[in-house]
Amino acid sequence: MSDRELSFDTKQIHAGANPDPATGARQVPIYQTTAYVFKDADHAARLFNLQEVGYIYSRLTNPTVAALAERITHLEGGAGGICCSSGHAAQIMALFPLMMPGCNIVASSRLYGGSYTQFTQTIKRFGWSATLVDIDDADAVKAAIDENTRAIFCESIANPGGHIADLDAISAIADDAGLPLIVDNTSATPYLCNPFKHGATLVVHSTTKYLTGNGTVTGGAVIDSGKFDWSASDKFPSLSQPEPAYHGLNFHEALGPMAFTFHSIAVGLRDLGMTMNPQGAHYTLMGIETLSLRMDKHVANAQKAAKWLEDDDRIEKVTYAGLESSPYYDRIARICPNGAGALFTVAVKGGYDACVKLVDSLELFSHVANLGDARSLIIHSASTTHRQLTDEQREAAGAADNVVRLSIGIENADDIIADLDQALTKATA
Ligand SMILES: *Cc1c(COP(=O)(O)O)cnc(C)c1O
Repeated sequence: MSDRELSFDTKQIHAGANPDPATGARQVPIYQTTAYVFKDADHAARLFNLQEVGYIYSRLTNPTVAALAERITHLEGGAGGICCSSGHAAQIMALFPLMMPGCNIVASSRLYGGSYTQFTQTIKRFGWSATLVDIDDADAVKAAIDENTRAIFCESIANPGGHIADLDAISAIADDAGLPLIVDNTSATPYLCNPFKHGATLVVHSTTKYLTGNGTVTGGAVIDSGKFDWSASDKFPSLSQPEPAYHGLNFHEALGPMAFTFHSIAVGLRDLGMTMNPQGAHYTLMGIETLSLRMDKHVANAQKAAKWLEDDDRIEKVTYAGLESSPYYDRIARICPNGAGALFTVAVKGGYDACVKLVDSLELFSHVANLGDARSLIIHSASTTHRQLTDEQREAAGAADNVVRLSIGIENADDIIADLDQALTKATA
């Protein structure tokens, strides 16, 4: 058994979860503790010197959280990973070891709304910046890279339209520039897409969404492929040179493929404190056990609902990449072989008023600012998350007045379609 690579379905249940060494407990216990007793002073010294791996304080590591980090790392096929308090925390944690004041990232213009604000506004306070480009336009991506660029960032299946990024093409550009590619794999999950197989260096997740799968907890994760050569240039001194924040340790020299992960724990979590709590990790561990089963159902339902909507007279356009009409359809087999996800937008005839009536008339769908729940969700961005933007900005963000975003759940597909049907009748009457 030991030489055989286990399948995804098996790893989502077993990876990172050996029976508890203290009690034999089969499920991962919730280690509700802040600190861990050192065996003796020498043991404590070895832990602090990173000469021995173990638990010190739960801001850094906790056994329940570590089990989740290990499971997601296995599912992504990475070398190491950490969990954090939210998806947004994960994005800051991914950038932190790479960036200094004055550095920038080149990011896709098709991003989750919160990431758009984090990158265009909030990171400026750290002296960082982001240049947003159409990630499908190779020349624009190359032109946006300058000597202060430290990463390229995109979503595998992008919010809100479900567009699929050509990760092979983008990672080739990143390689040429000596930069890591960071992929937000939240909407795809490692079941639908493995960014590391397409050359990504880091994967970030909002575990709040499909990985937990039931809308109960916020959390995030950063997984490292372990393959990037941080010492190939002088761009990443926190990893390739003595790190003043950790008594001059050279992380890449000392820890090789685990340099990024150890830096994220020993400096990132220690000083930024964006830590996941063990209760949250427990809920997400429970959710991940059924990830592949849920994603197959999400995709099958999305496929049916998108097709039904596309064929309906009351609809102008559906962006789902799983439809043959989508310009991204050809990328599914290569980038997302298990399906195009369950997130897409729909343009409704009748514009703003019809969309508002639609969200108010749906009974099964919940009108919320979330995605990746077991429940079907809808949001009319123009009257909610994107209210403050100008018409042009809304249009560019895929959130025009006549557009709603759907996150298709795992209810029965006929029930989902019947709900859309009755609400569209009221909305367009
Ligand atoms: C939700 C989401 C985030 C942010 O995650 P939080 O857990 O809400 O902080 C980032 N990226 C994508 C694609 C998301 O869907």
